[in-house]
Amino acid sequence: MEHEHNCWQCGSADAGSLFCRYCNSLQAPTPDYYHFFGLPRTLSLDQTLLQDRFYSMSRLLHPDRYTRRSDQEKRYSLEASSILNDAYRVLRDPIRRAEYVLREAGYEIGEQRSKDVPPELLEEVFELNMALDELRSGDTDVLPQLDEMRRRFLEMLGDVDATLEQHFRRHDTLSTDEERSQVLDRIRSILHRRRYIRNLVSEVDRQLTSRNA
Ligand SMILES: [Zn+2]
Repeated sequence: MEHEHNCWQCGSADAGSLFCRYCNSLQAPTPDYYHFFGLPRTLSLDQTLLQDRFYSMSRLLHPDRYTRRSDQEKRYSLEASSILNDAYRVLRDPIRRAEYVLREAGYEIGEQRSKDVPPELLEEVFELNMALDELRSGDTDVLPQLDEMRRRFLEMLGDVDATLEQHFRRHDTLSTDEERSQVLDRIRSILHRRRYIRNLVSEVDRQLTSRNA
């Protein structure tokens, strides 16, 4: 992924990534989040390291440092600051990070897919819809059942997150694209399941709130 480029300012080849290693001028920032932070493309990420890099790069890219620089560097610093913020927001969050890696690897992660019920949840979804129907028709006896279902969904989310973490670690130990793409397939369906369960929880919350309103 490392792209070699000549420094726009001094023309040196092998200028380095963000700042030219010879004349120190700011280079056109890479849009790749991992590359931008100089981090390996892993799904598990050292949060402290990421945070440290974020703060030091924020300082290096601060607009005050560019007031007397060329227009080119001013422009690059704005671009780089914006990539820095987006990259940090995405990489610090395990779910967004995984979605980013999937998208970059050519997977589609649309909301569309999240409408299909994961087969292993069919029973829960059926039960939930029944209970919600009863609630809507004014049967409040169903409230404890809904609470219990909500609790179960949250527990499922905890399990899903633990499974995801295992798959992240597994992904990071693999050395070929083929092996990695098998794990990414699996991660994509776990993320789908996760999104689906989250939507179920929101649905329960929405119904319970609208009832209290
Ligand atoms: Zn240079």
